[in-house]
Amino acid sequence: MTPHHSLLLDDIGELVTNDPALAERGAEPDVAALGIVHDAAVVVADGRVAWVGPAAQAPAADERLDCAGGAVLPGFVDSHAHLVFAGERAGEFAARMSGRPYRAGGIGTTVTATRAASDAALRTNLARLVAELHAAGVTTFEVKSGYGLTVADEQRACRLAAEVTDEVTFLGAHVVPAEHARDRAGYLDLLTGPMLAAAAPHARWADVFVERGAFDAVEAHVVLEAAARAGLGLRVHANQLGPGPGAALAAAHGAASADHCTHLRRRDIAALADAGTVATLLPAAELGTRSPFPDARRLLAAGVTVALATDCNPGTAYTTSMPLVIALAVSGMRMTPAEAVRAATAGGATALRRTDVGRIVPGGPADLVLLDAPSHVHLAYRPGVPLLRAVWQGGVRVDRREAP
Ligand SMILES: [Zn+2]
Repeated sequence: MTPHHSLLLDDIGELVTNDPALAERGAEPDVAALGIVHDAAVVVADGRVAWVGPAAQAPAADERLDCAGGAVLPGFVDSHAHLVFAGERAGEFAARMSGRPYRAGGIGTTVTATRAASDAALRTNLARLVAELHAAGVTTFEVKSGYGLTVADEQRACRLAAEVTDEVTFLGAHVVPAEHARDRAGYLDLLTGPMLAAAAPHARWADVFVERGAFDAVEAHVVLEAAARAGLGLRVHANQLGPGPGAALAAAHGAASADHCTHLRRRDIAALADAGTVATLLPAAELGTRSPFPDARRLLAAGVTVALATDCNPGTAYTTSMPLVIALAVSGMRMTPAEAVRAATAGGATALRRTDVGRIVPGGPADLVLLDAPSHVHLAYRPGVPLLRAVWQGGVRVDRREAP
């Protein structure tokens, strides 16, 4: 599409707007939340949604695309991804699948490779993963640092991430690097001092991995306090491998999101609900570590906002596929297809404290996914099948690698 050119998406069988005011009468609550319009049309102009409504009332446009009864959804919002790294860890994965358990220390392998890589090599890998995300229907995504763990390398990771997204997260608190293994206090000083100062201008968020083998509650508290003082929003890797203080810390610090949330106690769930902290579930990490999935029903029943994200990283969840994540959430985490689709769109937006993305509303960005299927249910109903026919970000097709 060229500027000032309008496009009519016509004959949409099911339009998911995420605007509950548009819900059809009698819809179940989970489906009502999707604000579904049947036999709909959308007009896109200047990168924005210009019009939404019944196809029979659609205005004329410069160009018309026949959606052939397919479903149109908001582009997915992936609120948790580790994309600035070098190398891969297929050998570690194969070893784990032959019985060795995952430990946080595997991150060190990627840290070594990332430090040794050139900017150009990191950019090339990042661009490849962004192209994968686009092809998987993701139109807004977060990118974390965390494989540099020196002042210069963390600053570089945040700077490169900022070239591809506004949602950059400083994750110097991923693990304590090997050279500081006997000087954790020294690393914390570096992390909350010069490293944070160098990374913050390129970042919107800070994150800390609260886990045995990573950071404990006291250390995480220091990191979160320093990050908030530096003006960054907060996110926490919480309760992935076992029960722990991460989710409660996230809630106590007013974090936007507590991520993983695989092992939550009842009081953790209550704290997340009270604080309005989103629980971001990452079922690809359970898939990649052959671990039990969290139970999303407990969170939803308590009124916690749930987001779904890829956790794309070379260690535990090397996927960019939001459709796969949606299918896993439905089969493994007891979400309905409608809940999973909402969590992968509006839920992810809430986890990033964004209100402009994750929905299809007039005036909003034209971030759209067209399915070769009549309804959003097919994303979970037909797992592993390439159902995405087209993906637009700001009105521009991004699902073809040769696209601009
Ligand atoms: Zn992560």
